[in-house]
Amino acid sequence: MVEHWVQLAYLVAATLFILSLRWMNEVRTARLGNWAGSIGMAIAVVATLGKPEIHSFLWIGVALVIGVAIGTPMALLMPMTAVPQRTALSHAFGALAAGLVGTAEYYLRGRTLGAGATAILCAEVLLGFLTFTGSLLAFGKLHEILPTRPILYPGRNFVSLAVLALAILSAFWLASAPTPHGILFGFFIVLSLLFGVLLVLPIGGADMPTVISILNAYAGLSASFMGFLLNNKLLILAGALDGSSGLILSIQMCKAMNRSFTNVLFGAVGHAVETAAPHRDGRSIQGYTPQEASTVFEGARAVVVVPGYGMAAAQAQHVVKELTDRLSSRGVDVKFGIHPVAGRMPGHMNVLLAEADVSYDRLVEMEQINPLFPETDVVIIVGANDITNPAARTRPDSPLYGMPILEVDKAKTILFIKRSMATGFAGVDNDLFYLSKTMMVFGDAKKVLNELIAAL
Ligand code: NAP
Repeated sequence: MVEHWVQLAYLVAATLFILSLRWMNEVRTARLGNWAGSIGMAIAVVATLGKPEIHSFLWIGVALVIGVAIGTPMALLMPMTAVPQRTALSHAFGALAAGLVGTAEYYLRGRTLGAGATAILCAEVLLGFLTFTGSLLAFGKLHEILPTRPILYPGRNFVSLAVLALAILSAFWLASAPTPHGILFGFFIVLSLLFGVLLVLPIGGADMPTVISILNAYAGLSASFMGFLLNNKLLILAGALDGSSGLILSIQMCKAMNRSFTNVLFGAVGHAVETAAPHRDGRSIQGYTPQEASTVFEGARAVVVVPGYGMAAAQAQHVVKELTDRLSSRGVDVKFGIHPVAGRMPGHMNVLLAEADVSYDRLVEMEQINPLFPETDVVIIVGANDITNPAARTRPDSPLYGMPILEVDKAKTILFIKRSMATGFAGVDNDLFYLSKTMMVFGDAKKVLNELIAAL
């Protein structure tokens, strides 16, 4: 009887998960989607705790307390700008859980598992542990405690392939052995952990968003395998949803960034581009005060704002909105050019601008805004850098080469707001700084924009 209620609760939770993904597709319904996912997860957890095979809640309680003690400060203290790192950590913990459950199953029930179940268990453990170390490394790169450039060494493709091949061979051995082999299983875990490191090490900062979403897919697949092992249909479904949505997002992001999907999928196996040296060549820039820069709007008819990570860091979205309202009231046509990987997470700019009540119809995607730049009088770049860098088109030695960019260099005037001549996330200089039509206005984005508004 209890089992029927559990299955019914699982059905409700599964429906909520699917609706959640559907609703999160649009800014308007994203909050609802978030609630649906959270409620679905709460129902799933409570239903699972109600299963008759759970005899003691002691260790579940201990795990709950540890989870809450880590999760609550992570949610409350980490700023909006650190959400990608937080996501990487969440993947790491989720994948570690899947890997540990698989390990416990092997050591506790290894004797009763057949070859098929052991193979599934190995897939779960491999994906779980490689996602754990890969996500930790991605966290380190995103948080900039590790170098964001690709870390390359001679023969890296051979080393990565050899580690993966050894892990797969061990898995075959474990699945075909008549009795459990504890030491070989331990070796298999070490290989899985190592492969996660090798996978992310050679991938540069500019490709990190795609890495995060592919790790998300790996964690989902691992959970799905765990569902097969534990005979839990909801886990199979939730893991498959997680895995397939992560995979679809990765493919879409690779298309947006013109990256090879296999390169990201297999990390070290693909070709990673060396970081290019800055090409300053003694060129000079033209610095302006906000008051001087404000004169550029006299007579301007079409203005495009290009927001980037710096807008998020400065929390300047409300001031951006104030400036654009002011310009609109003067009859200027104002649009926002949104690059798919602006900021540090997919949809980062959309979320911030929605928070500041910028109307959705003003946000224009890269493909639609690029043809409009030649007709644009002023482009205001608010803390963006890589997503505008023409090196993506012109310098084959650049890590950005091949990534589609916002073609702001085609506009009549470029107003660049940033604090210094520092590079963006990919660590490369930007030729735009040195163009005669570029006005550099140095300072914190919020402060500069406030001064611009005051000067208008
Ligand atoms: P970006 O290339 O990192 O450049 C941001 C610029 O903002 C920096 O050059 C910085 O220059 C400036 N800045 C920082 N704080 C500021 C402040 N308080 N006020 C004013 N300016 C400030 O950012 P982007 O153009 O948005 O490009 C995103 C990059 O991140 C891409 O390389 C992308 O691949 C990568 N990435 C994206 C995601 C994603 O999913 N969206 C995830 C991870 C990585 P100063 O220091 O001189 O001020």
